[in-house]
Amino acid sequence: MRQIEHFIAGEYTGSISGKRFDKRSPLDNRVIAQIAEAGREEVDAAVRAAREAQRGEWRSMSTERRVELLYAVADEITRRFDDFVDAEMADTGQPAHVMKHVFIPRGAANFKVFADVVKNVANEAFPMSTPDGRGALNYGLRVPKGVVGVICPWNAPFMLMTWKVGPALACGNSVVVKPSEETPATAALLGEVMNVVGMPKGVYNVVNGFGPESAGAYLTQHPGVDAITFTGETRTGTTIMRAAAQGMRDVSFEMGGKNAGIIFADCDFDAAVEAIFRSAFLNSGQVCLGTERVYVERPIFERFVQALKLKAEAVRFGRPDDAQANYGPLISHEHRDKVLSYYRKAIEQGATLVTGGGIPQMPGELAEGAWIEPTIWTGLPESAAVVREEIFGPCCHIRPFDSEDEVVALANDTEYGLSTTLWTNDLARAHRVAARVEVGITWVNSWFLRDLRTAFGGSKQSGIGREGGVHSLEFYTELRNVCVKL
Ligand code: NAD
Repeated sequence: MRQIEHFIAGEYTGSISGKRFDKRSPLDNRVIAQIAEAGREEVDAAVRAAREAQRGEWRSMSTERRVELLYAVADEITRRFDDFVDAEMADTGQPAHVMKHVFIPRGAANFKVFADVVKNVANEAFPMSTPDGRGALNYGLRVPKGVVGVICPWNAPFMLMTWKVGPALACGNSVVVKPSEETPATAALLGEVMNVVGMPKGVYNVVNGFGPESAGAYLTQHPGVDAITFTGETRTGTTIMRAAAQGMRDVSFEMGGKNAGIIFADCDFDAAVEAIFRSAFLNSGQVCLGTERVYVERPIFERFVQALKLKAEAVRFGRPDDAQANYGPLISHEHRDKVLSYYRKAIEQGATLVTGGGIPQMPGELAEGAWIEPTIWTGLPESAAVVREEIFGPCCHIRPFDSEDEVVALANDTEYGLSTTLWTNDLARAHRVAARVEVGITWVNSWFLRDLRTAFGGSKQSGIGREGGVHSLEFYTELRNVCVKL
């Protein structure tokens, strides 16, 4: 049985209490790993190690050397590509092609992108005149925040964790990562990479465990943590924000969404169907940027629903390494129970079930896995639970609309504000609607496409702050003001 330990000051360590918890495979519910669970002592040790690193060679290291190390991390991940793919596949049960083409390469890229950002960033400087005629130079100086607590979700574990660890390290911080209890494998593996490339001990630390009254809460409450970056549910973010208020620690939050797809009748129909299929069902619908509300202009509504139905019914469930399969299970039975409760609610509230709604028949031991059918509904009012609340499963509700104003109002009628995918061939309308939808990112005739140097984050209850490119510096550094009288 695989054992997963904490990674503290460059060493893998178990828990002082000896406490461990089981990780089950989403594919067949077998226990595949036992994970050390951190108590306050282990979290304390990890924060101390990270603090020590702040005082040592890491703090005084030149930017050039730091950049070299981050490039080496990315190269070592690439060298151990198959190990990362296997670890993430075992934890999530998702198909190999998503791991190989998106999640793991993006994880490696996250180190290079932010190494390049810090290498090239300039600080503002203003020569000033003074009454005595000698002048002054007033400039900004960026310094690391210090110890950053990194709390991660399970849906794209490695990509989302490195999206935070990459810029944190690039800016000279040290980190204590708390991966999701569901997906600890790649965070642990990254410790090996850090040691191989010679990352100073204590720069990268990992503690395992759960949220409340476990590693997550202990880390976010720890006074030695200078800033907290979190990706996960909005409700969890609210709790973490309360913890961060003690000691006035800064937060960066990437949280839930209830994203709208807006399909105008003049769009490229097939491309729009394909994009909504991907955005609603990729990763079994466990994507924060996914589309759970779809609004289709009335003339193409029926045709669109039928085309999406055909695609949803053509998915092939199976193991990640099954070349015939392209569709994985949900992360856990607990999550499937939650998603199924929404499937039931939709029907109770009067939805027309277009397809899905249940559990597929799986052969042999796979019958024990957390499989679920991609599901489409129509006919619900906007007040229905599945239209209002984030489900985080493979499902969407589709509704017709008649005008631009109407669809903008529908799209904005939510407490979330993460993303929109907008389909039209009318350029002026694309710009108009993009400016009016209240979200952090709008895709026009595309989805899940972004240059990592641009700002990423949510509006309303979908997040606080922006990360990506130079925008990450706002959170991962402190900007000091130095004024030198000449
Ligand atoms: P979650 O909020 O349940 O858990 C996320 C992490 O927080 C886990 O590591 C968990 O152990 C920890 N945690 C839970 N309670 C805590 C507490 N009280 N204190 C400290 N830590 C705590 O989220 P999840 O179910 O892992 O992930 C799914 C959610 O993440 C969805 O809402 C999804 O939209 C969101 N998400 C958002 C983005 C984005 O970029 N906006 C990206 C991916 C996922």
